[in-house]
Amino acid sequence: MPTLFTHAAVPLLVGSAVGKQRVSHRLLFAGAMAAILPDMDVLSFRFGIVYADPFGHRGAVHSVAFVLLVALAAAGLHRRLHTPAAHAFVFVGLAALTHPLLDMLTDGGLGVALAWPLSGQRYFFPWRPIHVSPIGVRFFSACSWSVLESELLWVWLPASLLSLALWRWLRRGNVQ
Ligand SMILES: [Zn+2]
Repeated sequence: MPTLFTHAAVPLLVGSAVGKQRVSHRLLFAGAMAAILPDMDVLSFRFGIVYADPFGHRGAVHSVAFVLLVALAAAGLHRRLHTPAAHAFVFVGLAALTHPLLDMLTDGGLGVALAWPLSGQRYFFPWRPIHVSPIGVRFFSACSWSVLESELLWVWLPASLLSLALWRWLRRGNVQ
């Protein structure tokens, strides 16, 4: 997995660029949480569930089905998120979807069970430039530097450029 900070960074950067009129602070926070949420499945190791199990790490809760569930939950809670249900569904759904897609760009571990429960197959993208981070939270240890470097290059940089482009495009639209 990329580190939790990096997973949260994508919706935070993009949502901030879109602006608080469209993405409320609460919706932004919900998006960040949705982007982190799938890695809670590392707790499965504590219950003796092996990595390759459908409910193991990168299993069921890294699937599109789980993304839809999270998006529906956000739509149901839209009043608390201070946003229309459709906005909550789309923003939180896309934020959650970034998680398995980014994991599929990593160079270690098992693939992602994207199509669960239809299929238990684990998927990766053919191109995997992001170094996988150790399972755990040793974010700042020396051995993680190459991980952070690859995340900065392949996640933070593209997400920042996308956010900047989006920010400029949306503001230019307002002027015209
Ligand atoms: Zn993950």
